[in-house]
Amino acid sequence: MQLDFPKTEEKILKFWQKKKIFEKSLKKTKNKPKFVFYEGPPFANGLPGIHHLLARAFKDIILRYKTMQGFYVERRAGWDTHGLPTETEAEKKLNIKSKKEIEKIGIDKFIEECRNNVFTHKKEWEEFTERIGFWLDFKNAYITCSNDYIESLWWILKQVWDKGLLYQDYKVVPYCSRCGTSLSSHEVAQGYKKVKENSVYVKFPVKGEKNTYLLVWTTTPWTLPGNSAIYVDLGTKYVKIEVKKNNKKEYYILAESCLGIIDEGYKIVEEFKTKDLIGKKYKPPFSYFEGLDPKYYHINKADFVETEQGTGLVHSAIMYGEEDFERAKEQGLKRNHVIDENGRMKNNVPLFKGLFFKDADPLIIEDLKKRKLLYKEEMYEHEYPFCWRCKTPLIYYAKNSWFIKMTAVRKDLIKNSKKINWVPAHIKKGRFGEWLKEVKDWNLSRERYWGTPLPIWNCEKCNKQICIGSLDELKKLQVTSHKLQDLHRPFIDKVILKCKCNGEMKRVPEVIDCWFDSGSMPFAQWHYPFENKGKINKNESFPADYISEAIDQTRGWFYTLLAVSTLLNKGISYKNVVCLGLVLDEKGQKMSKSKGNIIVPKQVIDKFGADCARFYFYTVNPAGESKRFNFKDIQDLHKGLFNTLWQSYTFFSIYKDKDFKPKKDFQPKNLLDKWIVSRSENLNSQVDKNLDNFDIVSAARLFEGFVDDLSNWHIRRSRKRFQRPETEEIKQEASQTLYYVLLKLSQTIAPFTPFIAEELYQKLDGGEESVHLSDYPKTKEKLIDNDLEKKMAELREIVAEVLAQRAEAKIKVRQPLQKLEINKKFENDLLELLKDEVNVKDVVIGKKIKLDTKITKELKGEGELRESIRAVNQLRKECGYISEDLIVTDIMGSPNIHNIEVFTEETKSENYKQVKTEKEIDENKYVKKKIGEKDFIAIPKLNKKTKI
Ligand SMILES: [Zn+2]
Ligand SMILES: [Zn+2]
Repeated sequence: MQLDFPKTEEKILKFWQKKKIFEKSLKKTKNKPKFVFYEGPPFANGLPGIHHLLARAFKDIILRYKTMQGFYVERRAGWDTHGLPTETEAEKKLNIKSKKEIEKIGIDKFIEECRNNVFTHKKEWEEFTERIGFWLDFKNAYITCSNDYIESLWWILKQVWDKGLLYQDYKVVPYCSRCGTSLSSHEVAQGYKKVKENSVYVKFPVKGEKNTYLLVWTTTPWTLPGNSAIYVDLGTKYVKIEVKKNNKKEYYILAESCLGIIDEGYKIVEEFKTKDLIGKKYKPPFSYFEGLDPKYYHINKADFVETEQGTGLVHSAIMYGEEDFERAKEQGLKRNHVIDENGRMKNNVPLFKGLFFKDADPLIIEDLKKRKLLYKEEMYEHEYPFCWRCKTPLIYYAKNSWFIKMTAVRKDLIKNSKKINWVPAHIKKGRFGEWLKEVKDWNLSRERYWGTPLPIWNCEKCNKQICIGSLDELKKLQVTSHKLQDLHRPFIDKVILKCKCNGEMKRVPEVIDCWFDSGSMPFAQWHYPFENKGKINKNESFPADYISEAIDQTRGWFYTLLAVSTLLNKGISYKNVVCLGLVLDEKGQKMSKSKGNIIVPKQVIDKFGADCARFYFYTVNPAGESKRFNFKDIQDLHKGLFNTLWQSYTFFSIYKDKDFKPKKDFQPKNLLDKWIVSRSENLNSQVDKNLDNFDIVSAARLFEGFVDDLSNWHIRRSRKRFQRPETEEIKQEASQTLYYVLLKLSQTIAPFTPFIAEELYQKLDGGEESVHLSDYPKTKEKLIDNDLEKKMAELREIVAEVLAQRAEAKIKVRQPLQKLEINKKFENDLLELLKDEVNVKDVVIGKKIKLDTKITKELKGEGELRESIRAVNQLRKECGYISEDLIVTDIMGSPNIHNIEVFTEETKSENYKQVKTEKEIDENKYVKKKIGEKDFIAIPKLNKKTKI
């Protein structure tokens, strides 16, 4: 009997809804100790994907488990709303592409569109979340663009400002030219892609030395027009070499250690120490700025010059590299942009003006070739950062930005991070620890529109700047009577404040990184500190006991959560985190629209059910590893664990004692029963232990073995006790055992597979209204018998060995044999079990495991009987009889069949026995089956009348 899992799940969902089971579970635990969970807020303007199913499954299991353990687990949903994801969506809707166009249609219109787009797919998210059984409180969801949320963010920023950690600086920052804004290092870290592109070795003529060139290597030809200096390394030896090019002598200067890049024969004609090179003048490949700064175009030293790659001479464009910019600042070189904020070459490089910087590369290379300034080109594969939202290649670009001085709290970050428990453990010191060690100042500002406005006002008269930390503060200083109904741009920009100097203060134009929004959710979700002080100060909702998201969040949300709580001196904001691997397609490729390999959760859920999809993710591999999503694995799980579990219940429901009533304080007596009960208690105890350590995978993996033991050993070995019991007591005891084990299983597995567990619990009438309102089972230590489990395992090893010996001798299991010699002692009950399982009459203790394979005439007869029984059962199945149709009254067999009397007895048919020759059988009424060469059996065809 197969269960339609998806359909059953829909039924359970309705039941939960109608009976408000989730609400009841919260109500039941309201005054119990708290277990704090934070939901990492998703953007609702995209659709949920299969990787969301993974994360939500890993969240839900722990929350259900803790609830059943008696904790109060608040589960507030949250929505991330601000920032580029929403803005790009709005741009698409309005069919515009640039900031210019946004300002042309009006920021207010644009903001309105953003706001409309925030919740495009909210309904799909809610339905998806509910369908997979993730209980989440959507009614009280926090929303990052609400005024309350923003006011809390302002308060946090004010604390940072008061510590002197919020500052403005002209720096080279990662910049997306399409979005027209800089990005933070954690945003950049999420967008690296491997690219293959041309790198070039360029010849820079040395001034006053004929045919002599500095050899320089660069992967970014577009920076060459902006060249301002060449840097060399202090400790490196440089050489001048002579080569022949087109029958002409040329001289190249480069590091001795880099001579491997020279393709032709050469001879070294001069050796230099670095200081001999410093101060030499050269002619840049593009001479547009020769009059700009007399300090330009000299060789100088720098400590970031690589000598393992390239030539040991670094071309530097002041505006397009963090280190270049800092070094040029020390030298006092003039700033000089050749690329505008849209990523296009400016008018000051007439040859390439208007070109997108990456598109300029081939033209620049072509031009250098023409002028014989290119030594060679080389394909180069490296990791390059792209905008995580719009996929435009980023550019390192000098500009004015606002930063949080994270480098000043690095020690605190590292100290705090030590208190976090990571699953998998290696993330702590590895991916996360390394990230913190290298932590950079947080580039907080975005030159955009739909985001939390940076609450800094600037006096136009005396240049004083203030940071506003609350609406009250704002109202006190406000000059205009503008109502503060919406704290977003452009409304907030109209709020003018009064400076102490009596001048007027205007807000700076920037909004902030939306990752600051989500990282602040422990505080801002409660409008802290304006309301709900106890949530933080009394630790009612802080820190989180548990969070779980994908591994990419080590540089995203996991980092910003820790950053914000550390800035506020609040320690850690989460204690335990399960970090999940990415979901890939079955070949290990990233899923993407362009590859057409995206799997929609619905495809999986409609076919196998949500439980099966959840359980697949719990067991497929260690939590932190990438998952190659594969329908076949889910199908195997469905066929295996899920169907076997359900068949076990079905068996119970059919064969249980007719007047079955579960006994309280049931204690098994039969050895097989004691064994499965002990297995069940051990399962309970181990799942408990693993879940307490947030080791979900180890916990989940225990179920498959248990269900297999239950079905393929306990139930199979107990069939006779259910179907042909010697006494009613025997059947009663077997029923009690199976009930006890199944009920306990329904509760133990409930956090993992909430639907099937509910169905099972309801069918077994477990006592509470829902399995999820019942207490998580406690292990009954006194029912654990490890010794027995060990013995049973040994016994099953012997069984496996004996079956192997049978197979080798080509003797079917149905053929009884006389004697088996084994090398271990067992209790009588276990010996009986063994005899029955391997079908031998006597077991003796000897030296090792040996089966007597002699078949006497008597044994042969018995074997044939068994064959006949099997054949009848087989035939019954083929004819469409089911287990409940206990009796087929009319069994026919050929006269050759031995032991036909016993056969009748064994099959319990009362009214049988008409041995006929094969020809005598009416083929319209009977179905017959050959067994052996001459023998046959036949049973009536199934019709409504024969069905009992
Ligand atoms: Zn972008
Ligand atoms: Zn002022």
